Order: sequence, then structure tokens, then C-alpha cells
Amino acid sequence: MITVLSGGTGTPKLLRGLRRLVPDPDLAVVVNTAEDCWLYGNHVSPDIDTVLYLFAGLLDHGTWWGIRGDTFVTHEMARQLGVDAFLRVGDRDRAVHIRRAELLREGRTLTGATAALAAVLGVQAQVLPMTDAPYATYVRTPEGLLHFQEYWVRHRGTLPVAEVVRLPPGSPAATGAVIDAIRGAEAVVIGPSNPVTSIAPILECRGVVEALREAFVVAVSPFIGTEPISGPAGPLMAAAGQEPSSLGTYRLYAEFVDRFVQDVRDPVEVPGAVRTDTLMVDEERSEALARVVLDLAHRR
Ligand code: GDP
Repeated sequence: MITVLSGGTGTPKLLRGLRRLVPDPDLAVVVNTAEDCWLYGNHVSPDIDTVLYLFAGLLDHGTWWGIRGDTFVTHEMARQLGVDAFLRVGDRDRAVHIRRAELLREGRTLTGATAALAAVLGVQAQVLPMTDAPYATYVRTPEGLLHFQEYWVRHRGTLPVAEVVRLPPGSPAATGAVIDAIRGAEAVVIGPSNPVTSIAPILECRGVVEALREAFVVAVSPFIGTEPISGPAGPLMAAAGQEPSSLGTYRLYAEFVDRFVQDVRDPVEVPGAVRTDTLMVDEERSEALARVVLDLAHRR
């Protein structure tokens, strides 16, 4: 089994390639839940949704969120009615949020609710929330302490960020399924996701780093130079006191990473890193990068 730590954009692009080489049942994905929120009475788990839709063949590969061909009738009507609908949610996507909320209100854990949704959607990979406890990313801005979704979607990431905070304070426990997936893996892959908002929350879950120290870990950088390929990783790395680059990313993973992969064009040197094309602009490039990662795992 290959176990992958994932956020909602960069790593799913790598998963698109990995699943062309590894059968879905042999893949386990530990997914960040620190961007989750209750919204419009429903439970939104953006990174879990993206990973579920990817494996279900439903994902919109243009945006890397939501369901391909979805409609937005409810969203438009809600706005007309005066709902503060800052997050654009498609109709079919919303149905998943409704069902997840229903399962959670019935007392299921997020792991249980995700497994139930995965089964209905025909997902054969294991999709594992990092924790069943609430644990969310907030950023301190001149507008106050904002949930990551407020900062990134409502304010379009335009506000200066002084600090990245996780709430509630204290580390949540990783689920048993997550620890088993890391311990039982032939290799663990940390995909090119935002180190501060996607990977760090997973690493902060109790038990994860200890398990990773025992595992063979391959990590892929989401940076070329001081710019991420997309998203707010640059300012958020700086706000978290880390250098926004492959080197800063490597330092976050240094204590457990065995192989580090960075882009051939990256001017920032990470000693001992494997260089390849990491820009996954299409499925073929995702597969090519996945092949490099698997090759490193097999030549461990
Ligand atoms: P989020 O949950 O939507 O924030 O998504 P992730 O954290 O999973 O992914 C965001 C990160 O993916 C950003 O830091 C990007 O730099 C990185 N990323 C996006 N596309 C690519 C790509 O093609 N190659 C690499 N190496 N990184 C990418």
C-alpha cells in the first residue's frame, strides 16, 4: 500500500497520476481537515470532497474543487434570498455536504461519514480524515482572526497575515486508521500541498510524526523559487516563520523525510533533492511525476 498525505489541489494532481500506476484499493489518502467548516447548516470538508470526487471520477479538473458539470441553482437562489453565500457550492456538491452533516448529527465520526460517502460514490481507495476532532486553521489579519475559508474565499487571500493559528489549541489525536495506514505503507508520499495549511495540520495530529519516523517518506515540493505553483503558501509560510521555498518546505519535513523531490527549474537548492518536472499541467505529467515518486519508493 502507498499512503499519501494530501490537501485539496497539488496532491490530488499527483493522485491523478498515481492511480494510473497503482490500483485504487492499494492507495490510502490521509486528508487535511483543518479547512472544514459548518456552512449553511451543512458540513463542508473541502479537501476530503476533492479527494472523494477524484476517486469517484466526478472531480472538476479545471478548478480542482466541486463536481464536473454541476449546477448552481441553489447557490443563486440563496443569494437572492439574502444568504451570505460567500462560498460557491454546486447543487450536487451541496448534496454531499447535506448527507455528511446528517451522518455527523446522527453521531458518526468524520471517518465513518467519509467511509459511508466513499462507499456510495464507489471510491475504492481509503480516504481518511486526519482526525475526528475539530481542528481548524485561522489567520490573524487586520480584519481580525479569520477562518481560512473566510480569508481565502471571502477575502480572496488579499489581507496581510500576521500569524497562522490552529483552533482549538492543543493537538488532536490522529485516528487509528491514519496511524495504521502510515505504519502499514510500503512508502508514504507527502504530495506538493501547502505545507502550512494542508500538511502541517496532519503532522500536528498526535501520533503522525512518530509513525512517519518509522516509515519510508518521499515528499514533493509545491514551490518553484519563492512562489508556490498556486495558492497562498508564500505569505502563509512567511507568517508561520518559514522560508517560502522548497528549502523551507524541506526543513518542515526534515526529521522524517527520506527523499525530497523538487522541480528541475527551482533555483533554490535543497541538498540531496531529486530533480524532475513537478508541474502537473495534464494527466501525463501527473503520471510522469508519480512514476518518479514510486521509483524512489521501490529503490528505497
Ligand atoms: P488546497 O487544499 O486547495 O490549498 O490545496 P493543496 O494544499 O493540496 O495544494 C496547494 C499547493 O499545491 C500549492 O502550494 C501549489 O504550489 C501546489 N501545486 C499546485 N499545482 C501543482 C503542480 O502542478 N506541481 C507542484 N509541484 N505543486 C503544485
